[in-house]
Amino acid sequence: MIPDICRYPWRFAVKPFRIAGGLYYVGNRSVSSHLIDTGDGLILIDTTFPQTVYLLLESIRVLGFDPREIKYILHSHAHYDHCGGTKAVSALTGAKTYLGRDDIFILNERQDLLWAQEYGVEFTETFHVDVPVSDGDIISLGNTAIECVATPGHTPGAISYFFDVIEAGKKYTAGMHGGPGLNSLTDEYLSEHNMPRKNRELFLNALGILKAKHVDIFIGIHPVQNKILEKENPVIDPGIWDNYIKNLETKARKAWQGSMQRL
Ligand SMILES: [Zn+2]
Repeated sequence: MIPDICRYPWRFAVKPFRIAGGLYYVGNRSVSSHLIDTGDGLILIDTTFPQTVYLLLESIRVLGFDPREIKYILHSHAHYDHCGGTKAVSALTGAKTYLGRDDIFILNERQDLLWAQEYGVEFTETFHVDVPVSDGDIISLGNTAIECVATPGHTPGAISYFFDVIEAGKKYTAGMHGGPGLNSLTDEYLSEHNMPRKNRELFLNALGILKAKHVDIFIGIHPVQNKILEKENPVIDPGIWDNYIKNLETKARKAWQGSMQRL
């Protein structure tokens, strides 16, 4: 059954807003997209669904930016809800596309892993990846340098991004988990798609790396993760990130209890 976000995307429209410094929310109620104004062009992180691209472009314009100023399109991972709009946005803007090196095969060889069929749709928006992203890469534009951390598990090439944001003269670190979903790590999913159980171990290892990161501004890849659309939620608070990663680890270990030794 096709979900409402793909059938009635306008119902999920959100007024775009500035989070801190040059960082803006341009996503919808279902899935996040973030825009960074680097002072020398824009960086977009995730392009949402193909059906919501028009909302994304409108959000960018409402903030006073021209989508054609987007120079780089980054992705958390190669799933329909995060890269579905990339073909359209890159064609419009000529922006360079970035994707985790280990997710590129999904676009080219394993479209069953794109999470499109789970949404009841067919993926017809394959795009060319200009820059494969590896662990430790730094993506720089204008005043922004984005650290790329490989966090495989949810998909093999999920990438988490970390960068500084200056708000009211103070420097804060913004950060995200590029693939926190446990839904592609269930017994059913792994066997149906012939994916290794080892992905669970990779997922937990990645959480260990992320736990050590200091993040003042937690960016969700879905707004429900950091409750960014709930106005009373503080934007700058390292506790939110720490709690999120800790809770995710507890949730994952509980879900896989008894099956970890069979990895
Ligand atoms: Zn996903």
